[in-house]
Formats: sequence, C-alpha cells, structure tokens
Amino acid sequence: MSLPAFQKYEELVPELKLEIWRQASLSPGVHHFKVRPWIGTRGADLNVQRVDITPAGQADSDPSVWRARIRIAKADKYSWDVVKKLLKGASTKEIWRPQRGNYSGAVIDCDRDLVCVRFHGLISNPYIGNFGDFDKLAGIRRVAVEYRKNWRPSIMYNWPQPIFQCLCHNTTHDITAVCPKAFEDFIPYFPDIDVFYFMVKLTSQTIIPPPPVPKGKKRSRQGVIKEDDQQPEPAPAESPTRGKVAQVTSETFTKFRDIAERNKLDTFEDRVYTYCEAREADTSCLLMHEEIWKVFSELKGLWKLAKTKLPPPYPVREPELKVLVYTELKKR
Ligand SMILES: [Zn+2]
Repeated sequence: MSLPAFQKYEELVPELKLEIWRQASLSPGVHHFKVRPWIGTRGADLNVQRVDITPAGQADSDPSVWRARIRIAKADKYSWDVVKKLLKGASTKEIWRPQRGNYSGAVIDCDRDLVCVRFHGLISNPYIGNFGDFDKLAGIRRVAVEYRKNWRPSIMYNWPQPIFQCLCHNTTHDITAVCPKAFEDFIPYFPDIDVFYFMVKLTSQTIIPPPPVPKGKKRSRQGVIKEDDQQPEPAPAESPTRGKVAQVTSETFTKFRDIAERNKLDTFEDRVYTYCEAREADTSCLLMHEEIWKVFSELKGLWKLAKTKLPPPYPVREPELKVLVYTELKKR
C-alpha cells in the first residue's frame, strides 16, 4: 500500500485527515507469521522445547498490517494520532524485532488483531516436558491457520507442511485431512488464545459450483436465478471459464461479506485481503464444510475428555472455533 499522494490532503479539515488514516491503519488487522518449534538443536537442552516466530515474508510480499502501520506513523501528526494506540497502546505486543539495524519490529494490537500462523515443523504437546520461551506467543488472542484441502498424513514433516497430520498410533479418525489430536496439541502453543480460525480461500478448488442456470434464466449478482419473460437465448454448452470461476468466487464472497456485515460477525483486513467470519449455517457451499465442522466438534470432545481427567493432562483453554473466508478479489 502506498500512502495517499493527493495534493489536496493539506487542505482537508483535521477530522477528514484522521478518517483517512483510520481507514488506512486497517483495524482489526491481520498479521502473518511463521512459527517454528525446535528442540535440542544449536546445543540447547534436549528437554526444552522452544519456538521461533518470524514474519511470513519480506516487506514487499508480506501483506501484514504491522508493516502498513509503521509507514503510516511516519506521515504526519494526524496519522501518528491514529496509529499510536495500535503501536504503543496498552494492548500492543512486539512479536518480532529485526536482529540488526534500527528498524521497527512487528507490533500487533492483541485486543483486536488476528495472527495468521504458518507453522513449520512438528506439533508436539507443549506440556510434555519443559518448554521455554512460549511467552513469545503469549498475549496473542486470535490465531488463524490456512485450511488446506490437501492435508494428508505424510512422513515429511517440513515440506509441504501438513501441520495437522495424524501421528496417532492405532487410531483412526473419521476425517483424514486434519487430525483432531494434533489440533488439540497445537492450541496450547498460544496460552492466551480466545478464538481459533480456519481460513479458507475461496477458489474453484474450495467452492461447490452452483447448479447450472436453466435455459433463458439469468443469475443476479447474488446468485439468485432471475424470473423474467425474456426470449430464451440458445445457451451454448459451456465449460467453466476463468471469467465464470472468478464470477462465482466473487458472488460467493459478496454473499459472505453481506452476511458478516448484517450480523456483525468478525471481519479483518490486511494490505491485500478482507477476511469475513462464516458461520456453520452458511458454509455448506464450501467443499470442506463437513470436514471443518467435524474437526471442530471432535476437538471439543477431546477437551471435554481432558477435563474429566485428574490431574488434567494440560490446562484446557477452549478457544472459540470459527471459519474465515477470503478471496483474491480487489477490496472495495
Ligand atoms: Zn490422529
């Protein structure tokens, strides 16, 4: 995102300048990080599990909101007024700091922002044995992980990253793509988590295509088939083209966004995408609909079981479990 370069800015009243910066500061925002647990390398104690958290990409490829806010802060006093709460307020936390140079670190607003995690490596229950520096992940209240259709059990832990792969012995789950046990072990990495989200990118791979439109009928922007008396045009048998796919994706996202706005569901933004919460009643158009909600309900079952054990195997935190959808579309 580039800062507004329009000449009339100086002539605007302060309220408008503030409003411009409020919009640009993207709150609640999304930050993208890589999280990597490691044990016993670099001469460290074999019994201590540690984690590293680093930005998900370089400045030009990472759409994280913390990068935008740092740039906004430098523009003028109005911009600083808006972002200072997001960079220095009581609920902020510096998640990462460059090792060299006088550059600003990655600061998130724990009260409102979402941290999207790309997890590298093997999940192990952090309450098995000692664990060090988990305070790095403390304070983060909203965590999201991209839900991928092609998560499969794999013997390769690092590539590609099937982070919730099943490593259970002699256990078969109803679902294969995500192991609820691995998921149960993953959640405690974030000691202050309130909400966990699976993020689903809307594409032709993730949406169930709508039924074909009957001859002579047209589909409105919302995907509803219009009833009109127009002379039916001969409809050529068509295979889904790129344009068609883009249209279906965009209609689906618009529908989700309207529902989210109407019902005041969670919405987040980063420099590229808008992310909207999608409730179970509305996600049946997603191919992984059943899978996701099944994993969520199995996880809740595991928490219930854990709480009956004395002493409990780990502090059961039970964050809310939600789905977020987003798409390649340009933001409004
Ligand atoms: Zn499993």
